[in-house]
Amino acid sequence: MVPASEAAQDGSSLLKITLLGIVFTAGYFPTKHGAATFFKRVSTTDTVQVAATVQLSEPKKQKTIYLTFDDGPNKGTQNVLDILQQEEVNATLFLVGEHVYGSRQQAATYDSILANRYVEVANHSYSHAFHNKYRKFYKLPESVYEDFRRCADSLRLRSTIVRTPGRNIWRTDQLSVTDISSSSAAADGLKKNGFTVMGWDLEWHFNDSMRLVQSTEEMVNRIDSMFTYKKNRTDGHLVLLAHDLLYKDAKDSSSLHRFIHLLKAKGEYNFAIASDYPASAQ
Ligand SMILES: [Zn+2]
Repeated sequence: MVPASEAAQDGSSLLKITLLGIVFTAGYFPTKHGAATFFKRVSTTDTVQVAATVQLSEPKKQKTIYLTFDDGPNKGTQNVLDILQQEEVNATLFLVGEHVYGSRQQAATYDSILANRYVEVANHSYSHAFHNKYRKFYKLPESVYEDFRRCADSLRLRSTIVRTPGRNIWRTDQLSVTDISSSSAAADGLKKNGFTVMGWDLEWHFNDSMRLVQSTEEMVNRIDSMFTYKKNRTDGHLVLLAHDLLYKDAKDSSSLHRFIHLLKAKGEYNFAIASDYPASAQ
C-alpha cells in the first residue's frame, strides 16, 4: 500500500487506481487447437494499487519574446547577465568583436557571458561599423562581410546570426527588410555568404545622457499591444532591442529587472534565443 502522502510527489498529479478483489483462476485452459493460456491466481483479499504519474502540461504559450542586447561586452553586461540568471530567462547578446579585446575587464566579462546558460552569443560586427561610420561602412559590401566574418572567427561563434550596427535590417529565409536602402547590397551580401540578419520589432530607447527613455510600464504595455495588434515582423514573435550599457547604473538595471519580472508574471510569454526565431539559421 502506498501512503497518500508519498503518492503526491513533487507537485505531480498522481492518478491512483485501486483495483479491489481481482480474482483470477490459476491453470491452463486448452484452446480448441490444443494450445494453452496461462492464468495467474491473485487472492481475493489483495489490493492492487496503480499509481500513474500524469503530467498535466501547461497550455503552450503562443507568444515569444526574444530579448536581445547589443554592443557588449561593456560596463552594463554583468548586470544584464545577473538579471537573466536570477529570472531564468533566455536572451541573446549581440557582441562587438573588438569590445571583447578592449580591456581585461571586457575579456573577463566575455568569459561570464560564455558561462551563462541563458545566453546565446551572436555577431554585431568586429568594429561596430568602423566605429559608427555607418554610411561609409555600408557602402562597401565586401568589407561589411569581412568585418562580420572577423568577429565570427575571432570569437569562434557557432551562431551565424548577425545584427547590423545602426541599421534595422532583416535577412532570414522568410524576411527581407531594409530600413535604409543604401545598405541593401551589404545586407544581401551577408545573406548570400551564409549569415542570417536579425533586426528588431521594438527598441528600448535611450537619450543623449545614456538614460532609458521609456519607463518599464510603458515598455510592457507596448509589448502587449504589439502582440495584440499584430505589429511584429512575424506574428506571435517579438524581438526587443536593448543595449547592455544602459543597465550599468543601479536604477536602470533595476528597471530591466522589473521589466522582465512583469513580463514573466503575465504568464503568457516565452523567452527564446535568436536561433529559435522562425527560419533563423542555427
Ligand atoms: Zn550597436
